[in-house]
Amino acid sequence: MDFSLPEDLVLLRNSVRKIALNEFAPRAAQVDSSEEFPWENKKILEENGLLGVHIPDEYGGAGAGMLAMAIVVEEIARVCASTSVIITTQALATDPLLLVGSREQKERWLRPMAEGAALGACAITEPGAGSEVTAIRTTAAPKDGGYVLNGNKLFITHGGVAKYITVVAYTDKKLAHDGISLFVVPSDSPGLTIGKKEKKMGIRGSDTRELIFDNCFVPGSNLLGEPGKGFYTLMKTFNYTRPLVAAQALGIAQGAFDQARKYLGERIQFGKPLAEFQGLQWMLAEMALKIELARTMVYRVCSTVDKDPESKDIKVLASMAKWFSSDTAMETTTNAVQLLGGYGYSREFPLERMMRDAKITQIYEGTNQVQRMIIARELLK
Ligand SMILES: Cc1cc2nc3c(=O)[nH]c(=O)nc-3n(C[C@H](O)[C@H](O)[C@H](O)COP(=O)(O)OP(=O)(O)OC[C@H]3O[C@@H](n4cnc5c(N)ncnc54)[C@H](O)[C@@H]3O)c2cc1C
Repeated sequence: MDFSLPEDLVLLRNSVRKIALNEFAPRAAQVDSSEEFPWENKKILEENGLLGVHIPDEYGGAGAGMLAMAIVVEEIARVCASTSVIITTQALATDPLLLVGSREQKERWLRPMAEGAALGACAITEPGAGSEVTAIRTTAAPKDGGYVLNGNKLFITHGGVAKYITVVAYTDKKLAHDGISLFVVPSDSPGLTIGKKEKKMGIRGSDTRELIFDNCFVPGSNLLGEPGKGFYTLMKTFNYTRPLVAAQALGIAQGAFDQARKYLGERIQFGKPLAEFQGLQWMLAEMALKIELARTMVYRVCSTVDKDPESKDIKVLASMAKWFSSDTAMETTTNAVQLLGGYGYSREFPLERMMRDAKITQIYEGTNQVQRMIIARELLK
C-alpha cells in the first residue's frame, strides 16, 4: 500500500472538509435535537455528487473508488454523523445492485441513487433476526410472474425517506442460506406500510423505521441476481460497506479529538491551561494513537478494494477496521467528554452528541461480536 494519498484525494478531502465545516457543522446540533431527516444536507450531498462516489460513472456515480468514498464519509462524520449516515446507507442499498444487478436494473435504480435523486434503504433486520440473518421470516412467494412479500422489518435506516428498498426475503425457507433472495421494492408499492419511527440514542437525524410487508407484490424483474443467492450477495456487500461504517466511526473519533484538543488549550484550572497537565496530555496522545491506527486500517482495506475488489483479504480487513475503528470512536468520544468535564456532558457542546452517535458504529452492519466471529472463522479456515 502507498501510504501517501494521491493529489486528487487530497483535493477531494479539502473540498469535502470545506462543505462539512460550512454547511453541516452549523446544523449538526439542530439535526440531532429535531430528530428530523436533514433534507437540506441531503440536497447538498446530491448537488456535490457525494452520494455515489464509489459507483462507476457509467451508472451515474463519480467512479472515484472506495478510498475516496471513505474519505468523504470520514470528513462528514467528523462534524455530523447523521449526515454521514445518508452516504453509508446509500452504499448499503446500492452495492447489491452494483454486484448482481442487470444492466437494466442498474439503469432503473442504481443510476438515480448514484446521482442522488433517489434515496435507498436496505432491509435485513427483523424482530427475531438481527445477528442471525437466516432467522428472518419475511417470505417472497412466486405469483403471477412476480413475488408476493410478507413479513416485518425493523430498524431500517431511511425506511421512511427512501424511494427504493433492497429487501432480504426467503424464496425457499427450507434451504436456509441457499433460500434467501434480494428484491428491490419501491417504497410506494401496494402492500408496503412504513411503520413507526424509532426514537434513538444517537444518529437522530437518520430515519429508522419498521417496515410491514402485507401481500406486497413486486414484478419478477425486481429480483436481484439469482434466487437463492441473496445471502451471499449480502455478505459480499458487507465487505464493501463495513469499511465505510469504519470510516464513519473514524470521523466521529477525529471530531471528538478536535474538540478536546482545542479545549485543553483554552481551559484554565489551577492557574494554567489543562494542556499542561501530563495526565491529560497522555490521554490526548493515546486518543491520537488509536485514531491514527484506525485510519491506517480503514485506508488499507479501502485501498485493497480499489486494487482488487475480489481480494480474499477484504473480508477480514473490513471486519477488523469496523471493530477497531468503532471501539476507537466509543473510547475517544467518552474520553473527550471527560476532558471537557461538565461542559462535555452539556448539550451546549457537541461532545455528548458525538458520544451518543459513536455507539451505533459498534452495533450496525454486524455487531463487534459478530466481527470477532467472522475474523476467527476466516483465520481458522
Ligand atoms: C440505528 C440503527 C440503524 C439500523 N439500520 C439498519 C438497516 O438499515 N438495515 C437493517 O437491516 N438493519 C439495521 N439495523 C439493525 C442492526 O443491524 C442490528 O441491530 C444488529 O445487526 C444487531 O442485531 P440485534 O439488534 O437483533 O441484536 P442481537 O443479534 O439480538 O444481539 C444482541 C447482543 O448479542 C450479541 N450476539 C448475538 N449473537 C452472538 C453470538 N453468536 N456470539 C456472541 N455474541 C452474540 C450481539 O453482539 C449483541 O451484543 C439498525 C439498527 C439500529 C439500532
